Amino acid sequence: MNTMISMRIWTDKGQEILYDTENLIFEIEDTFSATRAGTDIYELNANKNNWVALSPSTLEVLAYAKEITASTKGAFNPMVYPLVKAWGFTTSSQQVPSPEEIASILPLVDTTLLSLNEETLQGQVLGGAEVDFGGIAKGYAVDEIATFLEENQVDTALLSLGGNVYTLGKKTDGSLWNIGIQNPYGGGSVGSVAVFDKAIITSGGYQRYFTYEDETYWHIIDPRTGNPAKSGLASVTVISDSGMYGDCLSTALFVMGLEESIAYWNSHQDFDAVFITDEEDIYITEGIADVFTLSKGYSSGSLQVIES
Ligand code: ADP
Ligand code: MG
Repeated sequence: MNTMISMRIWTDKGQEILYDTENLIFEIEDTFSATRAGTDIYELNANKNNWVALSPSTLEVLAYAKEITASTKGAFNPMVYPLVKAWGFTTSSQQVPSPEEIASILPLVDTTLLSLNEETLQGQVLGGAEVDFGGIAKGYAVDEIATFLEENQVDTALLSLGGNVYTLGKKTDGSLWNIGIQNPYGGGSVGSVAVFDKAIITSGGYQRYFTYEDETYWHIIDPRTGNPAKSGLASVTVISDSGMYGDCLSTALFVMGLEESIAYWNSHQDFDAVFITDEEDIYITEGIADVFTLSKGYSSGSLQVIES
């Protein structure tokens, strides 16, 4: 998944469960990677205008991604892959594509170019469209791992897949987990949230980016403009029951910006969030007001609670 993964599992069953969990991650990567030949997503993209056999889990995630695209009015869009490639984020060398190139790609970033058939277990992309699970796979993975661990009688685990954290159960002493929210402007955290049985998922411009002629470009793209999203936010952390929801949503809210994100939160009310703005102000939704602790000495910006 091109990221650091850390898993801490409390069990009396020995090392075995850790290896099983690792294999689960490899399986997900072998199904979802867009860059590795033979995966469902690779084959879907490579065989445009043809029906391709897909696993039930791929169909489930594709269908879910389409729903989120609709509910976020296209701020999250799994069809963003041709743009991600044009900017070079699939490789080690990035570049700024011309406005003409972006304009020619934008019509491909459209979920109606993705057809799914749940009965025959097939999918198809039309024209030059391509799918990318980069904004959803890690959230899906933490959910799968958590479910697997629960099925194996593990009550306590702390998972982190490159900024995608999941807390299974409470700590063994019965207390909550304190999960730090990284400061996008430098080392350390701006604060922490005390939670259990939650996904805590962050999207930020600081995670993968390049600079060109004094301008910074990052890997979260506004599918509506084709450019890296500049919405006034430096990072968004979503706290939710489902990791897949939190992963999609953290990306989508980062694209939307604060105002549109607050409207989305108001109309859905099924997650909490921490927003850090370009001015280094912190906004948290009221559901976590009692469990958010600002880091001692954080004075770069103000802290405000968003109420419904
Ligand atoms: P990270 O992968 O660093 O945790 P995100 O979850 O925000 O960050 O996902 C960013 C990845 O998702 C990008 O690398 C790209 O592959 C893909 N992506 C970029 N912009 C979007 C978008 N607007 N909607 C869906 N996927 C996106
Ligand atoms: Mg995401």
